[in-house]
Amino acid sequence: MRLKDKVALITGSGSGIGKSTALLFANEGACVIVNDLSEEKGVETVKEIEDMGGNAIFIQADVTNPASVQSMVNMIIDQFGRIDILFNNAGISGVGRLHEIEADAWDRIMAVNVKGVFLPSKYALPYMMERKSGSIINMSSCIAEIGLALRASYAATKGAVLALTKSMQVDYAPYNIRVNALLPGTIITPFVEDYLKNSYDDPEEAVEGLKKRQLSGDLGRPEDVARAALFLASDEAKFMMGSPLYIDGGVVSGKNA
Ligand code: NAD
Repeated sequence: MRLKDKVALITGSGSGIGKSTALLFANEGACVIVNDLSEEKGVETVKEIEDMGGNAIFIQADVTNPASVQSMVNMIIDQFGRIDILFNNAGISGVGRLHEIEADAWDRIMAVNVKGVFLPSKYALPYMMERKSGSIINMSSCIAEIGLALRASYAATKGAVLALTKSMQVDYAPYNIRVNALLPGTIITPFVEDYLKNSYDDPEEAVEGLKKRQLSGDLGRPEDVARAALFLASDEAKFMMGSPLYIDGGVVSGKNA
């Protein structure tokens, strides 16, 4: 029960890493606010949490929309009185070399992946500051540190999130709020499955290629990232501030010859 009675908001927790984290946090005693654009997926996460005896509610909100995010935060404060943990996880993929990317697609990925971290933080922070307590986890990616083919727009968003995390940490350290970033490598989720389908003629072959990039020889699973999020959310990480935490099978630190 490492998160007993904590109130945790996880954006984009209807699927993949966010969903796995919602289940783990609930299992550790947190009351989880499952947020997603998709009502169907979010409600399913809540059902799975309730089936295992956990505590969760679903709030549909678009993390790119200020009114939608503000109303979500207000609902949480009305019902629970606080937000202890904010996991800014929602994100979308972007594929293509820079000259091939449409301006609208660029704006969309920036909106979801960067503004989607800014807005929930903006509206949750005053309540955390008031209580002088909080843990914010921002979803970056190991692509913030290394160049990968066909991922320019996505890389730009995740680099921005990492930079944002460090500066946020400086501003909110005086309020006892920790702000850290997760930098996963390739994790098998619907997000990666779509990316493989859209980018390669033979997705199976592409997966084998991706596996070779990891020192582990395999891709990650959502649970691998969820456990890192749990560490950052819990008091065990009280000396982690503004840190990038890699969960990448050694992609950034090593070189698989
Ligand atoms: P996923 O597609 O399985 O889940 C993302 C969820 O976010 C979806 O349920 C989607 O509906 C939701 N979402 C999208 N736009 C939203 C919006 N505007 N408002 C609210 N919810 C929205 O993806 P995932 O693989 O679990 O990825 C989660 C995060 O992890 C993303 O930020 C992604 O960039 C990051 N990440 C993923 C990987 C990977 O390999 N899977 C690696 C590094 C980082």
